[in-house]
Amino acid sequence: MSKKICNFCGAEDSEHNPLLAGEDAYICKNCVLSAHKIILGDLALIKEEAVRGDVTPKKLKEALDKYVIGQDRAKKIISVAVYNHYKRIFKGLPADDDDTELKKSNILLIGPTGSGKTLIAQTLAKYLDVPIAITDATSLTEAGYVGEDVENILVRLLQAADGDVKKAEQGIVFIDEVDKIARMSENRSITRDVSGEGVQQALLKIIEGSSVNIPPKGGRKHPNQEFIQMDTTNILFIAGGAFDGLGEIIKNRISGSAMGFLQKENTDIKDENIFEAVEPDDLVKFGLIPELIGRLHVIASLKELSLEELVKVFTEPKNSILKQYQKLFAIDEAKLTFTDDAIEEICKESMKRKTGARGLRAIVEDVMTDTMYDLPELAGYEIIVNKECIEGKEKPLKVKLSKSEASKSKKASA
Ligand code: ADP
Repeated sequence: MSKKICNFCGAEDSEHNPLLAGEDAYICKNCVLSAHKIILGDLALIKEEAVRGDVTPKKLKEALDKYVIGQDRAKKIISVAVYNHYKRIFKGLPADDDDTELKKSNILLIGPTGSGKTLIAQTLAKYLDVPIAITDATSLTEAGYVGEDVENILVRLLQAADGDVKKAEQGIVFIDEVDKIARMSENRSITRDVSGEGVQQALLKIIEGSSVNIPPKGGRKHPNQEFIQMDTTNILFIAGGAFDGLGEIIKNRISGSAMGFLQKENTDIKDENIFEAVEPDDLVKFGLIPELIGRLHVIASLKELSLEELVKVFTEPKNSILKQYQKLFAIDEAKLTFTDDAIEEICKESMKRKTGARGLRAIVEDVMTDTMYDLPELAGYEIIVNKECIEGKEKPLKVKLSKSEASKSKKASA
């Protein structure tokens, strides 16, 4: 049998570019998209611009509110920064506009694990309909060392943009755990600074807004290879990290200056708000190089989520863990109920583990393993999970559903 190929461009069937079969002919996804663009032409562009031209800080914040619980101040700061960033791009102002307000404002998000840093970046990208690449700073190294070259972030962004360089050049790059590439302080000896300052320098190069050569397929650069040029001027970089120990640095600075000037009100900042007082110098002390800090103009801090907020995260968002589990049960014509005290216990446990909202799912998965194993045989039953189940003292309760309730749960799965 002959190999299936796209009759328009000759591409082979692949996961990224699947073929659609017609009678005796095939067309690949890329060709369908190109045809779509040609036919819709300007119309699609106009529509796109109308959507984007309509972006305001308020609308951005509202979009974030739908998915991100709490973090009100951070969401506001970010909405303004992102608005300013995309205003220049979508309103077509030149990149070298010398109005400093319109210079790109990359963002540094400081906050504990599971407080919503990645979620914020993802939500922004979805709302703005721009590609996003999420990466972990700890996996990056300077060129030449074991690990990933910094340019590979851009390769991933290009992939997220389906190979469209122009689109990728307006995308968002989220770099998590930048605090982990802080320069080692003098007293910790390290023979070679593989993951610290060198990586910061490499990151700086792409964040600065320049033309970067990237290998189209990623991987290591080698001579004789063709490169794609990517302009990073309009890419929005968002860096995130927990910055353990930064609070102390900020406190010491504030109490140091307060001793001299007796600025009592300044020393009264609550621990949970301490990151709001962060200044660039504190980050230098922490171990970030000043040039990099200088490129992260906007700093927003996220707080550890409170018990009340975690309960909301668990129950409220469109794709909350609770709703996802209930859906799984409904598909098997069963019903799942978590009592209020069970939900509270799950959230308390996650707080205890210092994993924020990130830990909720693991706790539930652990409690639910046996029930999920039996789920296909639980049609027509309600499973009730209470606090004792979360504590591991009891098994979830199994109650037969009445006929009307059973049909309700069947409908819920549809
Ligand atoms: P991090 O701050 O470590 O980047 P993430 O954004 O990756 O945390 O969040 C981890 C998980 O917890 C995700 O599933 C996310 O949906 C959820 N989550 C974290 N913070 C929030 C929040 N403020 N509101 C809603 N969900 C959240």
